[in-house]
Amino acid sequence: MQSARRGLLIILSSPSGAGKSTLARSLMAWDNSLSFSVSATTRAPRDGEKDGREYYFRTRDAFKQMVDQGEMLEHAEVFGNLYGSPKAPVEAAISQGRDVLFDIDWQGGQQINTAMADDVVSIFVLPPSIEALETRLRGRGQDSDDVIEARMKKSRDEISHWAEYDYCLVNHDIKEAEEQLRAIITAERLKRRRQLGLMDLVRDMNDEFESRSQ
Ligand code: ADP
Ligand code: 5GP
Repeated sequence: MQSARRGLLIILSSPSGAGKSTLARSLMAWDNSLSFSVSATTRAPRDGEKDGREYYFRTRDAFKQMVDQGEMLEHAEVFGNLYGSPKAPVEAAISQGRDVLFDIDWQGGQQINTAMADDVVSIFVLPPSIEALETRLRGRGQDSDDVIEARMKKSRDEISHWAEYDYCLVNHDIKEAEEQLRAIITAERLKRRRQLGLMDLVRDMNDEFESRSQ
């Protein structure tokens, strides 16, 4: 049995189209004890997106009210829309020792890292090339040419923050990137300082050694 440990805040960032949503979905399917932080946003839902599943879709006024009332762990403007991570579900998950996965941009990553550095594992996903990034954005078929152009322009800015992250994955092959992501999470969970039950386990073993030596 694994000993109790502190919950992790897993931050996944990348330029749009590099594959972080695909990786996030795969990680959630791998471990159903993970909790996904559903962000609030003022952007319009895309086809197939459902309120409360991909995002909480909110008006600008409702979003600003959440910020003013201190309900956001972090928030930022991306592509002219507001995005933010509601605080309450994260605090609930962490207090139960559950890990939380965030699909957020570098601005949100920085804010959470500043507030809760000890609990954060940050991972940046790079595309193998700019060409692959554009092909993936177009292949996803979700955005107009204008939006794709804007996302490509913003990519340079997002990529410039790669070195602020603990880990960097180059998403050539999705299966390989998925495996690498699982390896990171597995290793981070095993960090000594996160395994709260180890002290008790070692103390019990010492007691046992003591009693055997008598
Ligand atoms: P992001 O969340 O970073 O914007 P997505 O996960 O939506 O990116 O991926 C963008 C598109 O690229 C999707 O159509 C996805 O299926 C595809 N994709 C993701 N990873 C790979 C990969 N390694 N090789 C080819 N296509 C990929
Ligand atoms: P999209 O509109 O494509 O779903 O997301 C656009 C960008 O916003 C992505 O880089 C995504 O990671 C980021 N994003 C999504 N939710 C949040 C959030 O809650 N906070 C921050 N800072 N960025 C977010």
